[in-house]
Amino acid sequence: MVTRVDGPLSAEHFQDVVLAIDASGIDAVNARSTTLAKAAGVPINVADRTHLCDFILPAILDRSPVVVAVSTGGLAPAAARFIRQRLEHAIPPGISRIVEIASGLRHKVAERLSAPRMRAAFWGRLFDGAPGELALAGKVEKAHQAAERLLDTMAEDRCESGCVFLVGAGPGDPDLLTLRAVRLIQSADVILHDLLVNPAILDMGRREALKICTGKRSGRHSMPQDEINALILEHARQGRMVVRLKGGDPGIFGRAGEEAAYLREHGIEVHAVPGITAALGCSASAGFPLTHRGEARTLHVATGHCRAGDELDLDWTRLADPKGTLALYMGRDSLPSLVRNLVAHGLSPDTPAVAIENGTLAHERRVFAPLRDLPDAATALGRGPTLVIVGSVIRQAPGWSDASPAAGTGVEASLFQRMLQAAA
Ligand code: SAH
Repeated sequence: MVTRVDGPLSAEHFQDVVLAIDASGIDAVNARSTTLAKAAGVPINVADRTHLCDFILPAILDRSPVVVAVSTGGLAPAAARFIRQRLEHAIPPGISRIVEIASGLRHKVAERLSAPRMRAAFWGRLFDGAPGELALAGKVEKAHQAAERLLDTMAEDRCESGCVFLVGAGPGDPDLLTLRAVRLIQSADVILHDLLVNPAILDMGRREALKICTGKRSGRHSMPQDEINALILEHARQGRMVVRLKGGDPGIFGRAGEEAAYLREHGIEVHAVPGITAALGCSASAGFPLTHRGEARTLHVATGHCRAGDELDLDWTRLADPKGTLALYMGRDSLPSLVRNLVAHGLSPDTPAVAIENGTLAHERRVFAPLRDLPDAATALGRGPTLVIVGSVIRQAPGWSDASPAAGTGVEASLFQRMLQAAA
């Protein structure tokens, strides 16, 4: 029971009391309450007077049955609350599911793994590995199975087959990673990543984690796909926690399907973690939506990858839709073919378009131009990953201006205009 005392304090107030808190903020009251509390043997907390406190009130993070208390020794309660907020991300609500699994396995682990070193290794792999990750992701049944399998293989001294997480690293800015991606990157034994993945993201991995670049970039396939597949399989079979990290979303022009099918065929469990794909990252950073009521009711995502000089082979009748938005990946070198075909199938050459290079990164560059002028305007960009978007939604971008549609209006485009003028 909690009793609040508003009037003058007396010794009776401290009888049969377990704890006292003085929140008066008045020096004279503080002096009296601490004297009375001491006489009655009751521990007291005096707000904002650390030196008078017998105990302090920490900031609590309650993930029952896990409870974390943060204290600054009474020095700065606001800082304790700030630290607790940080911990909220580090200790997600799903942590209770891991505790449940661990609690259910305690006796079995003690029975089956006699060496303390083995038990420590088991718990480490349970919390940091696939069972822990699956539990956090809410896949409780799978997490149980993975934990049981881990115990079996360790008890029988077999090499456990690891599992592979196909993880989206987003378009570049590390802040655009999902919380699950961050957790997985931080606990992986092996990270096999594309060339496009930002080094700042790889730095989040453990120092001892093996980081392998599979180095794919249009026109420069440094590692053939079957070699990549075999490499992932080899690491997974050694029981490692493998993260296959891909730019954007693994399921969008990321060959996720091929890799997952290959691994599953070879008996490896695969889990996919989505990422923010380039179209989402680029449109957000340029300040326009990809669909808009009454104006753009479809979003097409297409690849512009083709051999230099070849015509793009896409379903132009569908794509040349004035009420749709088209995001073209890997389309930097096929821009003339894109424009030719869209216009030939009825899309207005005045349709707003943009090419965005290194979207979401500090060195992002974009050129806005009406569709017909985009191939020329885009020559002002460098050789970084570039996404092309076509559609009337682009009018909503702060960088687009209908006032001078002839040669584009973006920062880089006006630079391009100045270059043209200088050259003329
Ligand atoms: N899985 C990735 C796409 C891989 S294909 C995703 O979901 O985003 C590689 C192409 O993606 C690049 O050629 C480019 O067209 C586009 N791309 C990826 N990151 C980009 C970025 N930061 N800015 C612009 N385009 C990007």
